[in-house]
Amino acid sequence: MTSAPSPQLAPHERAQPLAKGSTYPAKDLCSQCGLCDSRWVAYVKDACAFLHQRFEAMETAAHGRSRNLDNEDELYFGVQQRMFSARLAQPIEGAQWTGIVSRLGVRALETGLVDAVLCVGQSEHDRFTPVPVLARTPEQVLAARVNKPTLSPNLEVLEQLPGSGIKRLLAIGVGCQIQALRAVQSTLPLEQLYVLGLPCVDNVSRDGLQTFLESTVSSPDTVVHYEFMQDFRIHFRHSDGREETVPFFGLDTPRLKDVFASSCLSCFDYTNAGADLVVGYMGATFGRQWITVRNPRGQELLDLVEAELDVAPVMSRGDRKAAVQQGIEAYDKALKLPMWLAELIGVFVQRFGPKGLEYGRFSIDSHFTRNALWLRRNHPAKAEAQIPAFAKKIISRYRLPKI
Ligand SMILES: Cc1cc2nc3c(=O)[nH]c(=O)nc-3n(C[C@H](O)[C@H](O)[C@H](O)COP(=O)(O)OP(=O)(O)OC[C@H]3O[C@@H](n4cnc5c(N)ncnc54)[C@H](O)[C@@H]3O)c2cc1C
Repeated sequence: MTSAPSPQLAPHERAQPLAKGSTYPAKDLCSQCGLCDSRWVAYVKDACAFLHQRFEAMETAAHGRSRNLDNEDELYFGVQQRMFSARLAQPIEGAQWTGIVSRLGVRALETGLVDAVLCVGQSEHDRFTPVPVLARTPEQVLAARVNKPTLSPNLEVLEQLPGSGIKRLLAIGVGCQIQALRAVQSTLPLEQLYVLGLPCVDNVSRDGLQTFLESTVSSPDTVVHYEFMQDFRIHFRHSDGREETVPFFGLDTPRLKDVFASSCLSCFDYTNAGADLVVGYMGATFGRQWITVRNPRGQELLDLVEAELDVAPVMSRGDRKAAVQQGIEAYDKALKLPMWLAELIGVFVQRFGPKGLEYGRFSIDSHFTRNALWLRRNHPAKAEAQIPAFAKKIISRYRLPKI
């Protein structure tokens, strides 16, 4: 007599989350995306953005094709069916920009499109310490508005999915989180997943954020909001409502060189290639948000709020290339400019520098060249496999210092 074969368990059904504080598989390159804090750690070798770069496969699975490298818009901003700039006609008080992301999350719940929204709240003790949540009500989504500009373990909440009754999920996240999420998507206990991506660069640990604030702003402890904006200045808002701005070119580069997380110094997913819909600011003119619809699911998301948006076409002005080339050399020498000179350059660049999509390309070129150099110097054995084809094409347009 033969006994019935025992049902085969999937890898995540046999795995346990890694203990907090262990060394995670990507070691110093770990972005703490949270995957390893869930049983989906079982897939980390293939899913982790820093162990295994898989842009083409991810784009093909999510959007039906990978980006066209001969099309400049796709080379830079990824697979797309629409790109434009927008503002919520009635901005949400306390949001990072006008609150398009939070409004989308609210509408996705109100219309029953999804059962829950993966978003990032804040610790009750510290406004900048992220606490990922599976929000089930519009109030919870709104409470998670505004950036927590630190590495956030978003995917740890996957651990709460089994048995939660959540079958349709909207996940909001930055590139490294979304790359890992896409890699395990087919194993999740979900019927539908919508992905709303944020562009992201230069993220930091909570300690790194403190160093950044202390070296940059007049009163670090009262900052409640900040953003690098399209006028080449960092805009800080303090708890008493006071606004303070600092020119990018006035940053204390020697002190800040080691502040950014190593994961961010080896990342090429600035524009969140795997998301259905991306909402940032980098390709829009000052004060507006930048929207990229990558596929029909992204349009389905946008349909939830499009009637509430003041929309404009994207524009592009200026020529970034000389400024990027000069920036590569200045950053490499870790120059700190006197503030009067930084202000002067700031005024000049604001007036004559790249605008709209050209600003987005300026920022992408500057970060990709810096990151390629960082990887080649610090992780020479894995650098070439880690840099995707689209980034190699962009980097090849510049002269990089000898390694
Ligand atoms: C760390 C970080 C860096 C960014 N860098 C850029 C950039 O360089 N260029 C650019 O164009 N845009 C960037 N963005 C996106 C941009 O700052 C805005 O978040 C976006 O335009 C949405 O604005 P909003 O007013 O619609 O968002 P809101 O309605 O205020 O909603 C913000 C959303 O961000 C989520 N969130 C908060 N903190 C985190 C976190 N640490 N990780 C993941 N999700 C989080 C929350 O869940 C919330 O849903 C970045 C966002 C983050 C979180």
